[in-house]
Amino acid sequence: MKNLVVLSGAGMSAESGISTFRGGGGLWDKYPVEQVATPEGYAKDPELVINFYNERRKQLLEVVPNGGHLGIADLEKDFNVTVITQNIDNLHERAGSKHVIHLHGELTKVCSSRNPNDYRYIKELSPEEYQVRLGDKAGDGSQLRPFIVWFGESVPMIETAIEYVESADIFVIIGTSMNVYPAAGLLNYAPQDTEIYLIDPNPVDIHSYRKVSVIQKGASEGVEELSALLNTD
Ligand code: NAD
Repeated sequence: MKNLVVLSGAGMSAESGISTFRGGGGLWDKYPVEQVATPEGYAKDPELVINFYNERRKQLLEVVPNGGHLGIADLEKDFNVTVITQNIDNLHERAGSKHVIHLHGELTKVCSSRNPNDYRYIKELSPEEYQVRLGDKAGDGSQLRPFIVWFGESVPMIETAIEYVESADIFVIIGTSMNVYPAAGLLNYAPQDTEIYLIDPNPVDIHSYRKVSVIQKGASEGVEELSALLNTD
């Protein structure tokens, strides 16, 4: 079976009702990114940041995977699929994708404030535990923090992601403006003969001269078209 690697971004979950980052509308206008997605913002007002991610978890219980997530999971019948996502939601997993690499962390997990990547203190929350409070402690006695890679922090999963991209026969970019690094640089690791597809309803500057087959559609319709192009059922 061929190796198919997907790089997904916020647009992947847009049709599920989770707002994208730069699309405007609600969420990211109300909460400046410096406040809720940087270590400095967290140091300044941890309660606000903890509550912001509590809200995001609450939303997770109200949304469902869209046709795009389901279509990607379906490709596992015909390909070795690896999903590399910038999203912190769990919609790829809930759609049935078996191998998902989260570059920017996971909403359903919490970790130590002292060392977010110390695996001993990374914990999966059950839905009953989704509302974290100031004062809740990780195993090392520090405040429990959302397991999210904030702007300015290192992206430990990037090395693993690169390895999969280096052995991709097919590389599919969906719903990302390709503005956030190092995720956006992953395309550069695809071998020269890798087929590259891009699904996005808007034009995207991929910062590369690689030949790309553009499917200018939303995630659901776009993945359906991709499956047809790849000749799957
Ligand atoms: P972005 O907001 O910068 O770009 C979103 C892209 O999705 C745009 O190119 C847009 O045209 C496209 N898009 C809009 N509607 C779409 C649809 N229906 N189908 C397919 N594509 C669609 O997002 P980004 O590049 O992922 O960068 C934003 C950062 O914010 C990431 O680091 C991500 O971790 C984070 N984020 C995550 C979530 C989530 O977990 N669901 C949501 C918002 C932001």
